[in-house]
Amino acid sequence: METKGTQFYIQAGKRAMDWHKANIEKMKQCRFDTIAVHGIYSMQEALDFNQGSIIEPIYMSTSQAYRDSDEMEAALSYNIPTWCYSRIANPSMYYYEGVLALLESYKSGVDASCIGTASGMAAIQSAADALLTVDPKNPDAKLNFVGTCQVYGGTFQQFAVRKDQERNIEWRKVIDPNSIEEWASKIDKNTRFLYGEIPSNPSQSFFDLKLIADLAHSHNIPLIVDSTVATPALMRPLEYGADIVVQSVTKSLYTSGFGIAGAIIAKKNITSSIDNDMMKADFCGYLKLLPNRDNGPNISPMNAIMALNDIRTIRTRMDLVSRTTMKVAEFLNGHKHIEGVDYLGLENHPLHDLAKQYMFLVDSEFDELYGKKVNRYGHLMSFRINGDAIATRNVFDAFQRIYRATDLGRIKSVATIPAISTHQQQGEEGRKLAGIPANLIRLCCGAEHPDDIIADIDQALDVLDGKKHFISFPEYSAGGASSASLK
Ligand SMILES: *Cc1c(COP(=O)(O)O)cnc(C)c1O
Repeated sequence: METKGTQFYIQAGKRAMDWHKANIEKMKQCRFDTIAVHGIYSMQEALDFNQGSIIEPIYMSTSQAYRDSDEMEAALSYNIPTWCYSRIANPSMYYYEGVLALLESYKSGVDASCIGTASGMAAIQSAADALLTVDPKNPDAKLNFVGTCQVYGGTFQQFAVRKDQERNIEWRKVIDPNSIEEWASKIDKNTRFLYGEIPSNPSQSFFDLKLIADLAHSHNIPLIVDSTVATPALMRPLEYGADIVVQSVTKSLYTSGFGIAGAIIAKKNITSSIDNDMMKADFCGYLKLLPNRDNGPNISPMNAIMALNDIRTIRTRMDLVSRTTMKVAEFLNGHKHIEGVDYLGLENHPLHDLAKQYMFLVDSEFDELYGKKVNRYGHLMSFRINGDAIATRNVFDAFQRIYRATDLGRIKSVATIPAISTHQQQGEEGRKLAGIPANLIRLCCGAEHPDDIIADIDQALDVLDGKKHFISFPEYSAGGASSASLK
């Protein structure tokens, strides 16, 4: 039997890669919505490889078979595009990563790549750990990173416990992210990156991205930004100098709430003092081929495609839910039972003017409804009840349509009390640092009509006037007996 030789396959692989590259360049010419809808999947691929399916494929298969040993060798040496084993790559993941890379770098002049992960936390871990490697020239150095303490509860735990406590990697907390002096004072030669979450969940903290990116680069280290709350429809940190963006895709991007998903999107040629050219040249490509291959935190094809389906409408959804949230924030602002509302969209928010320079509805200037750049601030907000922890729980317990769930970004409104849920584990001290009091309710407005969201909050606040609520639960769900409710 005659084989074809690895060169035969490598040449074919090169033609395919050139074709894909040209297709991506073509997509870059399109507007944001077009990219979100089509991503890097094309008619040609649908017809040639996917039975004409207009939706990207999900191959429920662990691995790919090869024509012969030459093709296998070319594939396993990464010389041809392949999805040898689904932990490393699969076609669904490829389209998912392709669209996120394009959206996060949209019209920024920055070339970016993406790696999909099973969750937002896996994205943060993969990005951070790739930069927290021992320096062979100075193996005993105690490594550190400098990051804001106003972060998602899971991130707080990953940094404070998994890294700082368990691995002796110091998290130097920035208490006031708007003090560039504070950031600067915490950086030294063992600092591997700067980290910030903006806007932060739930406290709506925000800092001057360009300044902090410049500060990082002046120390030859990268800036990582968790941009989950904004999504690429409202802000794209790479455009302002950030090197690496992490997304909990689970949230607004994957709004239907079917599952968990994450992503890292990094520009090519990140700034870093680490002696690893491959890592710096293409951070996500490096993660994919090496550390994440070995650590295995990647996304499944099913989740990748279901998230991809929601990503198609991200721009118009973020516009709708941002406008709704603004209305709800205005209703709560000044309400007699409300101590304060934290929403960057409100003019009285101390960081409003800063956020206003960064958060815009992408392409609003090309939208016939607006015809100019308009600011949008997303659907995460929080408000503080005029009262103690018990009063706060009473209001929270009286919601009749807003779901009590530790979630955000959903198409349905959800609310939580961070002090007893998402930010419970970090303790009183950690919550104080992150600015999370016991009377804080986090609300993420969904796509319901704003009047109905306001009506639900309004009737819930009535409990503070002594009005009683009786929420009755049916003993049978519409679908049949629910044994739990009969107990
Ligand atoms: C939820 C969330 C995460 C963690 O993402 P998962 O997908 O739940 O792992 C990280 N950052 C922010 C801002 C989040 O809201």
